[in-house]
Amino acid sequence: MKFDRFLVVVASLALVWPATAVAAPYTVRPGDTLSKLARDFGTTVSALQQANGLSGTGLQVGQVLQVPGSAPAAQTREVAGVTLQAPGRIRMGDAFVLRLRGEQAAAARVRFPSERTEDVREPAEWLTPLPSGQPGEWVVLGRAVLGKTTPVRYELLAGSEELSGEIVTGPLGQPVQHLNLPPSVSRKLQDPQRAEEERLVEAAYALRTPRAWTQPFAPAVSGRRVSSGFGQPRTYTAGGPVAYHYGMDYSAPAGTPVSAVNDGVVVVAGQYPVRGGLVAVNHGAGLVSLYFHLSKVGVRVGQTVRRGDKVGEVGSTGFSTGPHLHLELRVRGEATDPNLWIGKTWP
Ligand SMILES: [Zn+2]
Repeated sequence: MKFDRFLVVVASLALVWPATAVAAPYTVRPGDTLSKLARDFGTTVSALQQANGLSGTGLQVGQVLQVPGSAPAAQTREVAGVTLQAPGRIRMGDAFVLRLRGEQAAAARVRFPSERTEDVREPAEWLTPLPSGQPGEWVVLGRAVLGKTTPVRYELLAGSEELSGEIVTGPLGQPVQHLNLPPSVSRKLQDPQRAEEERLVEAAYALRTPRAWTQPFAPAVSGRRVSSGFGQPRTYTAGGPVAYHYGMDYSAPAGTPVSAVNDGVVVVAGQYPVRGGLVAVNHGAGLVSLYFHLSKVGVRVGQTVRRGDKVGEVGSTGFSTGPHLHLELRVRGEATDPNLWIGKTWP
C-alpha cells in the first residue's frame, strides 16, 4: 500500500558490521526514534547519543547505532567440535543466522523448538548448516515471527551432544495504523480466485531446494523511497483485526523496472486478485522473494533469473491504492525484514 505520511528516505542500506562486535549494533528502521529505541533496549536517549557521538535526535534509516548497556552481545557457545555464535538480541520479523565453526560444524543439525508454540509454517524443522562464504564458517538461517516477542530458542545436535540457548526477541514498537480502504479495494480480499493465489504462494514457501545465491542481495527498485515499513501493524476497516505488513513498500512511478534481489528460479508469475501482478523467486535454502502489484510481469514460471534481472514493472494492481512495489523476503514461508537482507549475503 502507499501512504505518503509514512515516507522515509532510505539512506544507506548497505552498511554492515562485523559479526564479532562486542557492543550490540542496531540498524535504524523506518519509524525508529531515539526515545523508542531507548525504551526497546532498556537504555536512555542520552546513553544512545553518547555511545554514538550524536548531538541531536535525528536518525536515518539504515544508520547503524551501537546500543550500550543492557543489550546483550552476541553469544558464543561450544559443544563437541562446534562453536556456535548467535545474535544477542533480535526483533520480531527479523531473519538472522547462527554461525557455526569447527570440525563438526557441517555435520551439525539445528532447529528452533520455540516455533512449536507459534503460528508459523513448518515449525521446528531440522536444518542443515550451509557454507556462509567465509572460510570454515557455516550458517543456519532463523526467523522470528511477527507478532511474538517470546525468546527464540535454538537447539543444536552435534553427534550425540546437544546444545540449546535463547535469543532475546524485542518488539517493533510501531503504533497501529488505521486505514479505511474503499470497498473497490477491500472487495479483492473476497475474490473467489484468491484460494488459487494462496495455494500457489504456499507451494512456493514449501520449496526446499539448494541455495542458489552467493552474492549480497540487491535492491529491487532504484530510488528506494520507502512508503510503508516492514511489520507495520494495520487495520483495514474500522474496528477490524490487526494485520502485520509482511513486506516493504517502495514508492515508484508505474513502469519503473523491478529486478530480482538475487539469483533464483521464478516459481509464480501472473496476475492475481490480492497481490496483483505477482512474481515469486525461489532462492533456495527456504528463501523466497515476492514482488507485488506489478503492472507488467516480465518472466515465466521455471525461468532462471540472476540478481538484478528485470522481472516486471511497478504498478498498482491487486490490493493497492497507488503505484508502488511491495517486496517480501520469506524464510520457510515467514515474512522477514527486507532491510536485513539488502546489501548482505546473510541477514
Ligand atoms: Zn505493502
